[in-house]
Amino acid sequence: MTPVKVAVLVGGVGGARFLVGLKAALGVPDSAAHEITALVNVGDDIWLHGLRICPDLDTCMYTLGGGIDPERGWGRAGESWVVGEELAAYGAEASWFGLGDRDVATHLVRSRMLREGYPLSAVTEALCARWRPGVRLLPASDDPVETHVTVDVEDQAQRTMHFQEWWIRHQSRLPARRFIFLGAGRARPAPGVLDAIATADVVLLAPSNPVVSIGTILAVPGVADALRGGPASVVGLSPIIGGRPLRGMADVCLAAIGVDTTAAAVGQHYGARNAGGLLDGWLVHESDRASIEGVTVRAVPLLMTDVAATAKMARHALEVAGV
Ligand code: GDP
Ligand code: CA
Repeated sequence: MTPVKVAVLVGGVGGARFLVGLKAALGVPDSAAHEITALVNVGDDIWLHGLRICPDLDTCMYTLGGGIDPERGWGRAGESWVVGEELAAYGAEASWFGLGDRDVATHLVRSRMLREGYPLSAVTEALCARWRPGVRLLPASDDPVETHVTVDVEDQAQRTMHFQEWWIRHQSRLPARRFIFLGAGRARPAPGVLDAIATADVVLLAPSNPVVSIGTILAVPGVADALRGGPASVVGLSPIIGGRPLRGMADVCLAAIGVDTTAAAVGQHYGARNAGGLLDGWLVHESDRASIEGVTVRAVPLLMTDVAATAKMARHALEVAGV
């Protein structure tokens, strides 16, 4: 196989699992000629206790670097929770955010480097020197782009809160009316992001949350245009199977932006590249159907049950892209 350059838009758990399969499909890192660049959502990032926490970057870094807790799918394996317990004993907010001791070390290093003036992309590279993910992890932007959610609360009032508060504290039960990507208007793609898209042989949209993972990356000015105008085919994988998300609450997010929770509707939402959208190819699960004019749709198994199954998904995506 000739060396392939792949750029992949990813969120956290779904994105990280897909990257593991993509690496296996290409034989990375043993087959060093192939290059995978992950453009990672930063919309979930949050300051808590003076620490900058980047959940999706860390999930990708820990998963690919072998440090993830496999049962939870996020955070460190062998984690302990003493710092969080002590913070709770002080009544220090936000107690609803699970902050593990090992994880805190990552946030301490990151926060210190950010305060010293390093951009998030450089900080991520420094953290990855330890974890060696075998994939270049780039934050979509070095500028803060934080997802906030406007929700209905009692008495017919509305409130806007950080995505994490809605997702974790309220388990996304408060009806979401609107997602706001705070800072996205002024944000610039991180160094390397546009270049990764422009020089890629194929761009993949991981089966990540279309609204608060992929949607947030696409909200960084320049990214969607780079996909639309770039030389590489763009192929997406559906995170929706049989009308439901696999993990997480993509259905609630999709409802808030008026998109049905079906593989077909998500494909339509991304749209055909030859009609002003993003996609040349769209993979749906074998039991699903979709028809989008101008897009090659293929129905294949899309359950990331293990690395081999996920690698097959990645191979289908590369095939549809013609690489
Ligand atoms: P998060 O940032 O941790 O929420 O993770 P992502 O946004 O990267 O991924 C979450 C999405 O992954 C959800 O919408 C799930 O439906 C999707 N997902 C999880 N497991 C699978 C799977 O095995 N197959 C597919 N096709 N999608 C999955
Ligand atoms: Ca996320």
